[in-house]
Amino acid sequence: MITFVADQCVFGKTVQLLRSEGHTVVTLKELEKQGATDDEVQCVNGHRERLYRTEAIVLKRRDQGEADRVLTVFTPGVGKQQLLAKGVRKVTSRKAGHVELFTHSQFLVAKGSTWDIVTQAETIHAFRPLREDLQRISYGYYVAELVDRFTQEGDENRSLFDLLLATLGWLSKAQDLPLLARFFELRLLALVGYRPQFFQCAHCRADIEPVNNFWSPAAGGVLCPRCGEGLIERPGNDRPSAEPLSLNALKVLRFLQTHDWKTCSRLRLTPALHAEVEGVLQRYILYQLERSLKSVGFLRTVRRLLASSGQ
Ligand SMILES: [Zn+2]
Repeated sequence: MITFVADQCVFGKTVQLLRSEGHTVVTLKELEKQGATDDEVQCVNGHRERLYRTEAIVLKRRDQGEADRVLTVFTPGVGKQQLLAKGVRKVTSRKAGHVELFTHSQFLVAKGSTWDIVTQAETIHAFRPLREDLQRISYGYYVAELVDRFTQEGDENRSLFDLLLATLGWLSKAQDLPLLARFFELRLLALVGYRPQFFQCAHCRADIEPVNNFWSPAAGGVLCPRCGEGLIERPGNDRPSAEPLSLNALKVLRFLQTHDWKTCSRLRLTPALHAEVEGVLQRYILYQLERSLKSVGFLRTVRRLLASSGQ
């Protein structure tokens, strides 16, 4: 067992005492050099703190206290997570550059009470164009926000991590950023359980014919003309509403949903066609987010009520 003391909490007497008890006492820096595994490490202050290593992509961050930041990161192991990065707003901070937005880094993290704490950070991919090109920056924000909004803390989703990582790389050099955003939206929706249905009518399950059909965010997919017209003709009822969907837009949506980005990046859409595809996905995403937020709020309210009534 190696006992580590973080650099900022080296207390001479404590170290002496530990050494006299036969502990091997090292600083965090030395610990890193030795490459000790988590199980071999114990923190000196006895709070049963443990160190773990994780890759992380920074989705967003907010200031905390005088010089710290709370990072919302996405990790391969536990999905979304909040971590405290101490002192990173000081100009002298060595960690600051490794905890920038959209950065893919390797973190060494210590378990904490409110937040786990980033003790060391090293950049794996900086995605520099996402910091220097305003249009790419804005798409970086959009992609990060979608991941943040569609996930809950602690829900592991390795495929989503891989998608996010790949997308940040594509965003750094892609020509058609809006097209990439549409591709990303469809992949993300599938990975978080909201894959829209483009091949069968979302209402009667009939195969969709190559004609002008309908689109219904509430039904979660394309509607055949029979079902779609039926919904459109009855406004104000409590059944899902529908909107017309052109055959070309349907073809693009299907193509984006079933091909990889390398293949999709060769698509060339007219502005009008792109606008239709974008509108379809935007309304679907808004519909799902509002619904999922409502359900989350409701679940929390119920949980709070049950807790306060002692059940
Ligand atoms: Zn139908």
